[in-house]
Amino acid sequence: MRYINSETITLQKTTQIADGLAELAAVASVYPFRVTPAYAALIRQPGDAVWRQCVPDPCELADDGQLPDPLAEASLSPVPGLIHRYPDRAVLLVSNRCPVYCRFCMRKRHVGEGDAPLGRDALERVLAYIAATPAIRDVVLSGGDPLMLDDGSLLHVLTRLRAISHVAVIRIGTRIPVTLPQRVTNELCLLLKRFHPLYINTHFNHPAEITPGSAAACGLLADAGIPLGNQTVLLRGVNDDVETMHELMTGLLRLRVRPYYLHQMDLVRGTAHFRTPLSTGLEIIRALRGHVSGMAVPHFVIDLPGGRGKVPILPDAVEREGDLYWLRNYLGERIAYRDVTAPRG
Ligand SMILES: *Cc1c(COP(=O)(O)O)cnc(C)c1O
Ligand code: SF4
Repeated sequence: MRYINSETITLQKTTQIADGLAELAAVASVYPFRVTPAYAALIRQPGDAVWRQCVPDPCELADDGQLPDPLAEASLSPVPGLIHRYPDRAVLLVSNRCPVYCRFCMRKRHVGEGDAPLGRDALERVLAYIAATPAIRDVVLSGGDPLMLDDGSLLHVLTRLRAISHVAVIRIGTRIPVTLPQRVTNELCLLLKRFHPLYINTHFNHPAEITPGSAAACGLLADAGIPLGNQTVLLRGVNDDVETMHELMTGLLRLRVRPYYLHQMDLVRGTAHFRTPLSTGLEIIRALRGHVSGMAVPHFVIDLPGGRGKVPILPDAVEREGDLYWLRNYLGERIAYRDVTAPRG
């Protein structure tokens, strides 16, 4: 499989700084840097919400207390390229590349690594596993960003998946409408709509990411009959206040994008400086519920360490002992979750 060509600009051009560039480049040598002109153009000033999401930060290297793969995705992988945690759905990692490498990425260990898309042999093994596992009804294309694959590669994967009769639903998780909106062409939409029911979850984190370009990309996808959801990551210093979230969630509805998940930051190494206390997300949900359309209120979810599953939490549905929260997962298990927040630096 092959990637599209996508333009990427230098760290210096992105940040417009020369001082301190070496320090940022050192971070980028561990966790890759990549940004598109379209996304960099949304930066208004150093340290703003868009900057924080895409410009390397020395805090990334200072964070060594957490695991590179807290969700144990590697151990939930029956064949390379597939994560099979829940009986009825599986995640297919088709791409290791994104137009922009988000500094908070939960697959930080993975994106940019080797950079190549899933190879032909690996794809065959994944398809064989899915075909031999009738319980799988929902396949989520993820990565990296799946829409970094060229149209021919997407056509190949989607055709092969659709040929497996028990795969009822195909989902694509992509930040392309935000990071590389011009990738969403009429041709791409014509291709995708051949594989319905096909759902797309986009990934907007801030109202500044709602632009004429991203709005047009979502419009094309929605016009192709693709139901659009959105996953937002709750990020300190980016979107961890009610006003920003209110504007984001209601703005998404106007684009025909239905907020789906608001994610508590995973305990991924290199991302501690983005983590908010659980109370922040609960406060945001409490403030949204009843005050805006219920359609604009996402599920606030924690992806439990160790691959124990996603758990939605509601402002009043948690038992708490100090910084220890007791949560019930999808199996009905009662699991302890410690609310860890790095000191403000
Ligand atoms: C999030 C996730 C899914 C999809 O979960 P939904 O709640 O159905 O959106 C599937 N598999 C894994 C491993 C996941 O992390
Ligand atoms: S687009 Fe998604 S997979 Fe890619 S770096 Fe950002 S969060 Fe990670």
